Amino acid sequence: MKFDVLTLFPEMIENCCSHSILKRACQNKVIKINTINPRDFTHDKHKKVDDKPFGGGAGMVLMAQPFVDAYESIEKEKNSITVMLTPQGKVFDDKMSNEFAKYDQIILICGHYEGFDERIREIIKPQEISIGDFVLTGGELPALCLIDSISRKIEGTLGKQESAEFDSFSNGLLEYPQYTKPRNFKGLEVPEVLLNGNHSQIEKFRHEQSIKRTKAKRKDLWDKYSN
Ligand code: SAM
Repeated sequence: MKFDVLTLFPEMIENCCSHSILKRACQNKVIKINTINPRDFTHDKHKKVDDKPFGGGAGMVLMAQPFVDAYESIEKEKNSITVMLTPQGKVFDDKMSNEFAKYDQIILICGHYEGFDERIREIIKPQEISIGDFVLTGGELPALCLIDSISRKIEGTLGKQESAEFDSFSNGLLEYPQYTKPRNFKGLEVPEVLLNGNHSQIEKFRHEQSIKRTKAKRKDLWDKYSN
């Protein structure tokens, strides 16, 4: 999977992807992360990428030309999708993460400041994705959320792919509680059933716990699961 990230702050993407699991996935060529900076596509000597909004108002709007030219410079693979990170998009979830993991290339367009000149949307026609109903200063953190989540779905990123298969949301429920050593911490014991090696009992316990948690913490998920 190749991620091409259009961003005015490529270091934010590069730094975050150079640690831990994503770093290993890049080294093992499971994923490839490439950044393209629209500032490199400006025509004026000040490398201007934003300007005041027509009609007035606060903040600066990202200019169409550097973003469209930067986008057009990217070599598109056959099985590719273009995503614009915007709070106005469809809210990203685990199901979308699974769908996106089927592509060979994902182009991610990060905004900043007041956001995009509308013509960037009109010309590129990206899929618009939000990471939630709140507003961030830029699209880099949302892009990283997508890169991280989608990468976990790709064989070879995680040590054991099954760790993703049992994560929260994968079966419509939240994950069961997990424990590790020691068996007793400050008087709190690990549930006995997890220590007896009986796999069917462990599975049953974990499923019950998943249901209990989902009902308690995410009624919306539970309603969807149980209907
Ligand atoms: N003025 C825009 C609006 O009200 O829709 C918000 C612009 S925001 C300050 C700057 C950039 O951050 C956006 O262009 C987008 O790329 C990114 N961004 C902010 N919040 C986001 C969210 N919840 N999901 C995805 N991207 C977001």
